[in-house]
Parts: sequence; structure tokens; C-alpha cells
Amino acid sequence: MPLRLGAIADDLTGATDLALMLARGGMRVKQVVGVPADPAALAGADAVVVSLKSRTIPAAAAVEQSLGAARALLAAGAEQLFFKYCSTFDSTDEGNIGPVIDALLDLLHEDRTLACPAFPTNKRTIYQGHLFVGDQLLSASPMKDHPLTPMRDANLVQVLGRQTERAVRLVDIGAVRGGALTAALDAPGIAIVDALDDADLVAIGRAAAGMALITGGSGIAMGLPANWGIAPGADSARAAAPGGRPAVLAGSCSAATRQQVQSAVGAGFSGLQLDPVAIAEGRQSVSDALQFALAASTTPLIYASAAPEAVARSQDALGREQAGAVVESFLSELAPLLVQHGFCRLIVAGGETSGAVVAGLGLTELDIGPEIDPGVPWMYASAQGSPIAIALKSGNFGAENMFVKAWDLLQ
Ligand code: ADP
Repeated sequence: MPLRLGAIADDLTGATDLALMLARGGMRVKQVVGVPADPAALAGADAVVVSLKSRTIPAAAAVEQSLGAARALLAAGAEQLFFKYCSTFDSTDEGNIGPVIDALLDLLHEDRTLACPAFPTNKRTIYQGHLFVGDQLLSASPMKDHPLTPMRDANLVQVLGRQTERAVRLVDIGAVRGGALTAALDAPGIAIVDALDDADLVAIGRAAAGMALITGGSGIAMGLPANWGIAPGADSARAAAPGGRPAVLAGSCSAATRQQVQSAVGAGFSGLQLDPVAIAEGRQSVSDALQFALAASTTPLIYASAAPEAVARSQDALGREQAGAVVESFLSELAPLLVQHGFCRLIVAGGETSGAVVAGLGLTELDIGPEIDPGVPWMYASAQGSPIAIALKSGNFGAENMFVKAWDLLQ
């Protein structure tokens, strides 16, 4: 089966988000962590999403990694490239969105593309080129205070205009809904495209069928599978879920995760709470946690998740970074030991925590499986030769009973 779409995402959870959107549209999707060493390994999917960690690194490094990913995807036969960034257009005047788009267009010998981060389901819409988060302009939303990419200008034509030498123009909602969108997109430069609802995104995706490069959030991926005649459910043949014992590892302290932990403990999970200070002082060890999991008569739930006062106490004792690092390295060491002992079905809570666990398991390829809750799919992978099912949940995602109900989808 030929590879249709080759996507490059600037972070791990964004890659999953896009992979899920394409899978919902009926595509067989493979997610790859980091620039793929061997394009041949990308075969067997309609779409491959390469996840990078390039959102906030220096622009030159983001360009280099993105070009590496693009070359591998093109070598694997990708007919169209997709550069995925955040639906809040997270970037600075130095990049990295503009420089990466420029480099990808040069690689493709192309002079035109579109940029549309809109994702109305998550309340990100674009009107007259201005990005809204709910009813607020991006520049009035909490994104204005983001520690790394403060977004103080909601006019994307201006924002992107400061990141590229190419012409940046607006294709407004009238053009999107007016029936001549393909023609409106067909001009040199980068078109910021308005979108207010899912129908707009589908129309934009369809109109972009002939473009060598599309850029945006996961929203505009909605219209893409149909460009290859792929429909939801058309090819839902998926790998069978691997067997094995379940376990949950939680490093997120978000309100949603703490509720999920409480709900799972209430449902009879075997909970072991980690304490960063006890870990740092050697009073709580990875092998203790492994023994706990092996002895547990119900699903083990190993969590550092704690209320803000407890987090503040461990941060006072260890420092903010060290408190986080202690937990992340604990879970990234524990995860492969769990797999070796037959725990081949894992839920991981927390964005940074997920990155640490994926690295600890040495995962490089993830196939998208069934969706547990919006934005959180099961994924199938191989950890040191063992097939595993793993769900990576960013802190605030998932229903309260997610840890309890997720396993039913693997039957
Ligand atoms: P989220 O997706 O909710 O932001 P992350 O995993 O990205 O979750 O970030 C949570 C951070 O908090 C991680 O670095 C984790 O190691 C750290 N952490 C977890 N538990 C504690 C704790 N009890 N005290 C201090 N830091 C903690």
C-alpha cells in the first residue's frame, strides 16, 4: 500500500492528536518518534506522523530536524507533506513555524502553501486572520503569558509575516465558503485561511488536495483522507491488541489526573503513591515499586500525582526541576521492568511523564488503536521485542473513569 500523507509534528502529543484525526478518517496511521533512520520502516500505512520535539528549540535545529523527517517521508513515497503545529500557533518572531515552512517549500521546489491552525472542536477559530481561543483573541487568552511562546498578537498574517520573507496573505471566510477556494489558495506565498467550524476545515482539506505541503493544526486533517477516497471505517483492520497485565503510571498533578487517580483507587485499583523526597533520599526505590506491582491483586496504579500543597513541599525540598526529574526518571526506569514482567498494557498520565516513559521504553513506532477519550488513543508498539499497548494522556485529558474503562477497548 503506498504512503499517502507524510506528516511532521513539532511535539509528541500534537503528533498523537493528528494521528488520531487521520485514523478517525479511516487512514491506517503510524506514528514515529524522532527522525526515522530507515524510510523502509515507514511502509504499510496510509499516513505516517513523525513526532519531533522542535517547537521551542532554536529555529536552525527545528529546520534541520524537520528536513530530516521530510526527506525520510518523501523517500518512503509520501505524496503530500503536512507540517503540524499547535492550534494556538505557539511560536516567536524567531520561529519556528515560518522557517520550517520556508525550508519545506524549498525542499519541495514549491512556492505556495496554506497555514490554518483552527480547531473549532477545541474552540480555536480563525476569523479575518485573527485566531480566537473561545471568545477571546489569542492575544487576550492565557497564551499571552506562555513561558516559552507568549502570543501577544492574534493577527496570524502579521505573526507569520514576521517569521518569513514570503508573502503572507489572508484567504477569508467568504472565500472559504464561496465555492472557489481552490483558486483562492492557488497563489505564491502562504495563505492564512479562516475557519469557524468543521465544515470549513473539511472544505479547506479538500481544496488542498493538490498542494505538496499543507500546514496547520490537526483540524484541517479532517478533510484529507477523502482526497484519497478513504472514508471512516473503510479500512479499520487494525493489529490485535497485545495481551498482558495492565498498569497505570501517573506523573501528572493536573486536576483531571488527580480525579482519575481517586476514581481508580475508589474502584479497587492497587495504589502506590510516590514521594519525590523519599525517592531522592533512597527510601522509595524502583525495585520496591516493581515488587508492589507484581504482588498486587488488582491493577497497580503507581502515581506521584499530588495536590498543589504537596507538590510545593517537594519542590521546596528538592527544587522545582529536581522534583520533576526525580519522578520522571523513576517512571522511565520502572516502565521497561514492568514490561519485562508481563505488564504489557500501560496507561501513562502527563505530557512530560509520557515523554520520559516513551524514552525509557525505547519506543520509536506507535500504531494508532482505538480512542479511549477525545485525544487519547490506545497505541500499539514494540518495547524491546515485546508487543505492548500504551496510552499517553496529557494531564488534563480523559474522563474521570478513564483508568477504569480504558481496558475494555483492548478486549
Ligand atoms: P501534565 O501533562 O499534567 O503537565 P507532566 O507530566 O507534563 O504533566 O508534568 C508534571 C511534572 O510534575 C512532571 O515533571 C512530574 O515529574 C512532576 N511531578 C509529579 N509529581 C510530583 C510531585 N509530587 N511533586 C513535584 N513534582 C511532581
